[in-house]
Amino acid sequence: MNVHDSEKMAGILKAKGYAETANTEDADLIIFNTCSIRQKAEQKFRSELGRIKLLKSKKPLLKIAVAGCIAQQKGRDILKKSPHVDYVFGPQNIHKLSAMLATNAMVCIEDNPEIQHTNLPAERKGNVKAWVSIMYGCNNFCSYCIVPYTRGREKSRPSRNIFEEICGLAEKGFKEVTLLGQNVNSYNSDTNFPGLLRKINVIKGIERIRFVTSHPRDLSDELILCIKELPKICEHIHLPLQSGSDRILKLMNRGYTYEDYIEKVRKLKESIPHIAITTDIITGFPSETDNDHSITIKALRSIEFDGIFAFKFSPRQGTKAAEMEESINEEITSQQLIDIVGLQNDITLRKNEALKGTHQEVLVEGASKTDKGKITGRTRTNKIVNFEGNESLIGRLVNIEIKTAMRHSLEGRLISQS
Ligand code: SF4
Repeated sequence: MNVHDSEKMAGILKAKGYAETANTEDADLIIFNTCSIRQKAEQKFRSELGRIKLLKSKKPLLKIAVAGCIAQQKGRDILKKSPHVDYVFGPQNIHKLSAMLATNAMVCIEDNPEIQHTNLPAERKGNVKAWVSIMYGCNNFCSYCIVPYTRGREKSRPSRNIFEEICGLAEKGFKEVTLLGQNVNSYNSDTNFPGLLRKINVIKGIERIRFVTSHPRDLSDELILCIKELPKICEHIHLPLQSGSDRILKLMNRGYTYEDYIEKVRKLKESIPHIAITTDIITGFPSETDNDHSITIKALRSIEFDGIFAFKFSPRQGTKAAEMEESINEEITSQQLIDIVGLQNDITLRKNEALKGTHQEVLVEGASKTDKGKITGRTRTNKIVNFEGNESLIGRLVNIEIKTAMRHSLEGRLISQS
């Protein structure tokens, strides 16, 4: 979400005549697009902001802006504590960036009730895959999450605007879109989410459609049918579980039980047997016991996700969970995280190894970052595949025979191209 917000900022700036520089010292304007989902991201921002202070003292005309969720939360406080900052604007006020730059200093953190109608130009890298926002904000108030406070209440873009944006991307040669929302399953404009997918599926030139993130509670049978039936919807779903323990899920205000969750997984696997399912897990949630942790481990063993993102609980000021007592000892949480990641690594490797010898459709994205001389792409199930091939294949769908499986990627041999 933040990466795409940055693309929108770059789009606005490009229209104003700005050009990107890889060298901070050359910049006339530096925007920190901040994230406050976890404490670590906040700390990183603070240290970068301190570092840039020296540059501003040498280059007084340099303008510094703080955007994103920390800007939204701290607002004017940022200007008070860091007088070298000129502008502060939250995720709902990106459209004001141009007007803001015409002033000397400004703070824009008010709610934008019309955000769903702001169609901002985005400056995207490459022309193979694109993020497309379909909605903004969230109504769920999971007890650990800051998003509803920083990005506001949920608002869905009209389907026509999304359709037109994706048609424009197809004309530019993009092959894959990822529809973005905090909870895409509750998209609700002139149609629901399955309705939106059906509309987009007919856009000529777009070969693949992905979406993120799905809230398990709102994953409907109609959506499962769409993934099964619509040829462009990729067979991968990111479905955050967070914990296997019903007691913890309740404290997290997630709105489902483990039984509810596995019923959705059962339906997904029954309809689309080769679907890849990935998830998020939080360890060390307040009051989490060894027993809760064991239940989560059992859930991971039983579901066998294709991949997980596991994080230590990070109390976010202003959320319900930050006020909960019985915080968990850091050492215990760290060990639990090691257990979870270790177990999942084994599962992921085993699942990847099962792909050896199979033929996979891969959309070629570019040169491999890890494997010099190779090119890289992803399977429909979102697994990275590196293989020997010419960069002229970038943007093409190719057929790859999987030869080697690792935890985070696969290696293969080019069989044919479309
Ligand atoms: S659904 Fe996602 S974004 Fe919304 S409150 Fe819960 S964790 Fe945060």
